Amino acid sequence: MKEALERKFQKLGLRRGFDFVLHLPLRYEDETVLGSPDTAVPGEPLQIEARVESAKIAFRPRRQLIVHAEGLVLRFYNFYGSQLKQFQRAIEQRQRVRAFGELRGGWFGAEMVHPRYRIVSEGEPLPDALTPIYPTTAGLPQRELRARVLQALDSEPLGDTLSDELRTRYGLAPFDESVTLLHRPPPGSDRGALAERSHAAWRRMKFDEVLAQQLSMRFAYRERHSRPAPKLPGDGPLLKAFFDRLPFKLTRSQSLAAGEVLRDLAAPHPMQRLLQGDVGSGKTVVAAIACLAAVDAGWQAAVMAPTELLSEQHYRKFSEWLLPLGVRIAWLHGGLRKREKLAAAEAQVVIGTHALIERGVEFKRLGVAVIDEQHRFGVEQRLKLGRKRARVHPHQLMMSATPIPRTLEMTAYGDLDLSSITELPPGRRPVKTRLFTEARRGEVLNRVRESCKEGQQVYWVCPVIEESQEGVQTAVETHDRLRAELSGLQVGLLHGRLPSDEKTKVMQQFVAGKTQLLVCTTVIEVGVDVSNASLMVIESAERFGLAQLHQLRGRIGRGRRESVCVLLYGEGDLTETARARLRVIFESNDGFEIAEHDLRIRGPGEFLGERQSGQRVLRYADVFKDSELIRQAREAADALTDSDPERARAHVERWYGSRRDLLDA
Ligand code: ADP
Ligand code: MG
Repeated sequence: MKEALERKFQKLGLRRGFDFVLHLPLRYEDETVLGSPDTAVPGEPLQIEARVESAKIAFRPRRQLIVHAEGLVLRFYNFYGSQLKQFQRAIEQRQRVRAFGELRGGWFGAEMVHPRYRIVSEGEPLPDALTPIYPTTAGLPQRELRARVLQALDSEPLGDTLSDELRTRYGLAPFDESVTLLHRPPPGSDRGALAERSHAAWRRMKFDEVLAQQLSMRFAYRERHSRPAPKLPGDGPLLKAFFDRLPFKLTRSQSLAAGEVLRDLAAPHPMQRLLQGDVGSGKTVVAAIACLAAVDAGWQAAVMAPTELLSEQHYRKFSEWLLPLGVRIAWLHGGLRKREKLAAAEAQVVIGTHALIERGVEFKRLGVAVIDEQHRFGVEQRLKLGRKRARVHPHQLMMSATPIPRTLEMTAYGDLDLSSITELPPGRRPVKTRLFTEARRGEVLNRVRESCKEGQQVYWVCPVIEESQEGVQTAVETHDRLRAELSGLQVGLLHGRLPSDEKTKVMQQFVAGKTQLLVCTTVIEVGVDVSNASLMVIESAERFGLAQLHQLRGRIGRGRRESVCVLLYGEGDLTETARARLRVIFESNDGFEIAEHDLRIRGPGEFLGERQSGQRVLRYADVFKDSELIRQAREAADALTDSDPERARAHVERWYGSRRDLLDA
């Protein structure tokens, strides 16, 4: 029993006493006053006290415990036998029930279903403070949780981790007062401010939370940055030759990003840089530059992609650029035998999926690791390469086509340096987006036919879950159906369950123009680059996420032709959010803007994704409403890291002490 309780606490992340202190109420209920059925406001819970008159178990329409009190009926569908006894005893002793819940009109008059209740004697005083309601988990009653929190509050040392000077500068209430007020709001507290979380006590706790998060990220960053890494000066002959041969001129922001990367690589500490830029903005060439700096200095480089398909594309692109320079490149894929994998590990540049590179090879001299589409990987994964005990650590360049909204940049990525490519290569024409209801599928088919007749190629994207058998089935059926509807066209099929060499073959045929229409799933979401494809149809577009739609659309518009993306949607059953998403994708072509909308629609936790978020997503501070507070806490973190590292450590320990994994990352 006790163990079960501990497990529930653990589930909420509550391990040490102080974790309970920092487990703040979700909201409050007002049990300081009694109401009556005539004062009840519909939809608002209230507390009623009445003498218990009868209690019995009824069986129709289903088993239930019905308690009659003066003017009030309590009804329980889930109950213990002991509850019946408890009420019977109350009747014998002429006691009363104090019930808190929503009132509704019932068969016998006013009733409450499953109220929170207590048996009390006549004249027992009401609580004089609001009752905190805590975030909990299934099977963990508020009562148990509250008792533990209050016990921790009384036994843990609540000394301030902030100096008086800092508190005065930012107008912050003392810690002990703030945390005590939130757990035990005294009579007369400003209820509105508590509910809105604008109360001075809330402000202090949110400030502390953000400060701890920022400090922990700075410490992690510094720790990683203090490790040794190879110095890669970036002035070698390969890099020079590469720039001489490159068939295009770098855009201004590509040059800036490349400059930042080269500067990091020349330092004797590992680079931790995130390169963000919209689909098609040309991140790969920056990656190639980083790899060449490694090879020039006698080190190896690894390029990791989320899928094998994408890794193969990188292999082709890198081969085109680097083979003429005499660089040895290897593609590490699932079809290789052990011996071939060992040989791959000797190459100067090794390209493969993240999984393969992590498990498949032992590098002798890894100097640079490039992680493409890093949003697909979790935080732990992105940091795994920097194993703690290694003698030297590779420089890391992460790339992402899902830009970080400004709002999150401050809080979620404090432990990385950031470069942004903010423009597309010249000559690109923005993709036109069209919305069609499923009812107009016939028109869309005509468009597909016309495009193909003009020598263009088309993607047809199915809304399926990549891993599921059903999903594959849907893709196969769509493929069959389109083949029948568009007879005369060469139609290919690409999905994640195809064997790897089959995928490669399908893709090669599309690249070579042998297939005109490619029916596919989201395997093509990232990276695939066919400039002759100028039309994309996305079926049931309402079922895709915003970032995904934008990524998919980025697959076209890569040639000279004007490209069109047709979003087919089922009209009847559009949810509010689905409608909002389609509107955003229709109106905007800008990845940064879309990411910002996406964040607003989904909220930060979901936006970052479960794996991505780690534990560093803020629990109390709100990235939208508390932006000024967040700015101040960041400023304080900057000052504190150097001026008072001891205090800073103590503060981080208080908030993250039971999450060693995060601190050591
Ligand atoms: P992403 O940022 O989505 O990974 P890529 O690196 O695949 O984009 O680049 C998209 C295409 O643009 C590639 O074919 C690439 O060769 C080309 N490209 C990149 N930079 C430039 C540039 N400065 N001028 C012209 N074309 C470029
Ligand atoms: Mg890319």
